[in-house]
Amino acid sequence: MLLKEIKNIFHDELGKTYPKEEIDSFFYRCIEHYLKLERFILAIQPELVLTKEEEQPLFEALSQLKQEMPLQYILGTAHFMDLELHVNGAVLIPRPETEELVEWILEDCQTKKKNLDAERSRSVISTTLNDHSLRILDIGTGSGCIAIALAKHLPHAKVYAVDVSERALEVARENARLNQVDITFLKNDILAPELELELDIIVSNPPYVRELEKEEMKNNVKDHEPSLALFVSDGDPLVFYRAIAQFGRTRLKEGGSLYLEINQYLGEETKALLKAHNFSEIELRKDIFGNDRMLKAQQKWTSNKK
Ligand code: GLN
Repeated sequence: MLLKEIKNIFHDELGKTYPKEEIDSFFYRCIEHYLKLERFILAIQPELVLTKEEEQPLFEALSQLKQEMPLQYILGTAHFMDLELHVNGAVLIPRPETEELVEWILEDCQTKKKNLDAERSRSVISTTLNDHSLRILDIGTGSGCIAIALAKHLPHAKVYAVDVSERALEVARENARLNQVDITFLKNDILAPELELELDIIVSNPPYVRELEKEEMKNNVKDHEPSLALFVSDGDPLVFYRAIAQFGRTRLKEGGSLYLEINQYLGEETKALLKAHNFSEIELRKDIFGNDRMLKAQQKWTSNKK
């Protein structure tokens, strides 16, 4: 069959569900992935004919797309910052908002390092606080995207990552290997943590979507991404934030920081929860879409450690 005919079939079959540009993007990513064809191929060879074997994976992908399966799960890969990661239905597909959370941490680490370098050049006092001594924990690591990006950009830091799902940990371990970073992965439930760690940074993107928000979610997320990683009850939507705050209060060093991705509708509530746990310098940030999406807080023992 002609390649351009297959492109038309993609548009005919998916037109009701997805916008035109997205269907084009699905089609081109499929031909790139399965056939190693560049996206401009149709401009150069408009009459390109595919064999039956070549067509087959494209039609298989199309039938999964029709069931609103996310393309990243169909192809088995997703991008996060400068990383390529394996994904399957056991882990969330990494989101651009989460990249912003990682960038916030990296910016802060750079600022700290600059200040220390300046201090060092002014005095003979040597301090050890650079990424050589940083100990970082990612809670609910999923695909490992946050932990792996941090390990890659802070090569001397010691990075730990936990998840409650063994299937997610398998994906995360594989991703760490593919991206050549050394991370200690542990199976642990943050609601009943068993982690004797002393940390400089805790980061987490825990489940935070309330059942009542399901209606505004797209089918491809709701029906295919792991509920375990997404949903919390309407009655106690901050359950994971409370557990992380309690854990952080005892495991973060003085001056250590907590970075959290949050539910856009619960910014003030989440901030208040951290305040109630005696965290200081709490900062709420919006994501690229203008939604309250990230919180940072600091551990200061002087402010009444519980
Ligand atoms: N941001 C994700 C979504 O809207 C949710 C991630 C999470 O629950 N941690 O689908």
